[in-house]
Amino acid sequence: MSESSCHRAEVLINHYLDDELTAEEAKELSAHLKACAACRKEFAEARAVELLLGGVAAEPPPPSDAQSKPEAPPKQGTDGQPNKDTPQSMQAV
Ligand SMILES: [Zn+2]
Repeated sequence: MSESSCHRAEVLINHYLDDELTAEEAKELSAHLKACAACRKEFAEARAVELLLGGVAAEPPPPSDAQSKPEAPPKQGTDGQPNKDTPQSMQAV
């Protein structure tokens, strides 16, 4: 086995995901996937993600991942600590 061919397969998988895989590349990729379990798994997972994305949204995701939406802050498990002994009024300055 050669790692360089695995790297090549990775590139081809990305081409596949980008819908840029030529027939020749597809042959090359499938040949490698037959021989390489690691890349087969990689491809299966990549494809699963693509199918997942395709199933949820009809449109392809935007190419740029730069803009990050502000999401809700993570919930804190111990948010409100009950102070039974010390009333709030006593703590207020
Ligand atoms: Zn491989």
